[in-house]
Amino acid sequence: MALAPLTGERVPAATVQGMSAITVVSAHDRLPLTCSRSGTCCHGKMVWLNPWELACLAQAKGLSAREFRDRFCEFGGIRLRFDGPPGWKGLSACSQFIPGQGCSVHPGRPLACRLYPLGRKLLGKDVEYIHDGETFPCLAGCAEVVDLPHMTVAEYLAGQAIDPGQTAQDAYLDLMQQLADGAFVLLLESGLAASGDKQTLRGWRDLGRAHPKERATRIPAAWMDRLTLPDLAHLRDDPAAFAKAHHDHLQAAAQSEFARRDSKDGLRQASCLMMALALHLARGLGSDVEHLADRWISTAKKHGARE
Ligand code: SF4
Ligand code: SF4
Repeated sequence: MALAPLTGERVPAATVQGMSAITVVSAHDRLPLTCSRSGTCCHGKMVWLNPWELACLAQAKGLSAREFRDRFCEFGGIRLRFDGPPGWKGLSACSQFIPGQGCSVHPGRPLACRLYPLGRKLLGKDVEYIHDGETFPCLAGCAEVVDLPHMTVAEYLAGQAIDPGQTAQDAYLDLMQQLADGAFVLLLESGLAASGDKQTLRGWRDLGRAHPKERATRIPAAWMDRLTLPDLAHLRDDPAAFAKAHHDHLQAAAQSEFARRDSKDGLRQASCLMMALALHLARGLGSDVEHLADRWISTAKKHGARE
């Protein structure tokens, strides 16, 4: 199953997904990419997180991942809170922004913050770098950047140390797909779909349409902890190994919890939980979750499931 295009972009809080224009940039484009460090773009945005990014933020803050999540994140750990004092245009600051100083977690900042004002979009295996809107985003709040040194997109990206973040993003896309595959197996290979069950796909569709806050309430606390707090700090310097070990932990937990389920209700609940985990992780990766759920439902129907 192919993955939906995803972005690692720090987006304005008011952006309605899929509604804003984007501009594709090339590695050779020379742009006013020197930051004036006003902190403008640390206000009024949405910064989504994957579990490796959460671990990096916690380390930079000197907290455990659990403490960081519970104090500074929303929806079980997939988005940074923006509940700091109002700043630019009266918009709330990121919870990690200190007025007059800047980002308090700079060494552990997420990929979206490293890339800004650019974003990253996957088209199959190809990556495009983009920015939001038709006008260079920094000009809205930091017009002074036109007088600072311009640089190519390639030079900018090289200076932001984005490789670990990109590796983590791609590894977690794989994990998202593996969680969804688990939901498929529980529906299609357990006899549940063959029994004529229609409620499982309805459950998947509800999960795709649910607000992240609502979807988070449908994931039991122990599973949310498994999803966002994998306790793998010793692998933080190797994001691919971190995501792989995280996959193994989730797989072992699913095996131990679901292996003996054979009632229709038990299988349906297990399939919907795996789908909820896949979609919640997908939301943290910047995906259009409703679109993703629709595509997975359509695939399941092609394999005999009903809604
Ligand atoms: S809007 Fe651009 S120039 Fe201004 S603080 Fe953000 S990255 Fe720097
Ligand atoms: S994590 Fe740091 S760079 Fe990113 S929005 Fe928050 S304060 Fe700004």
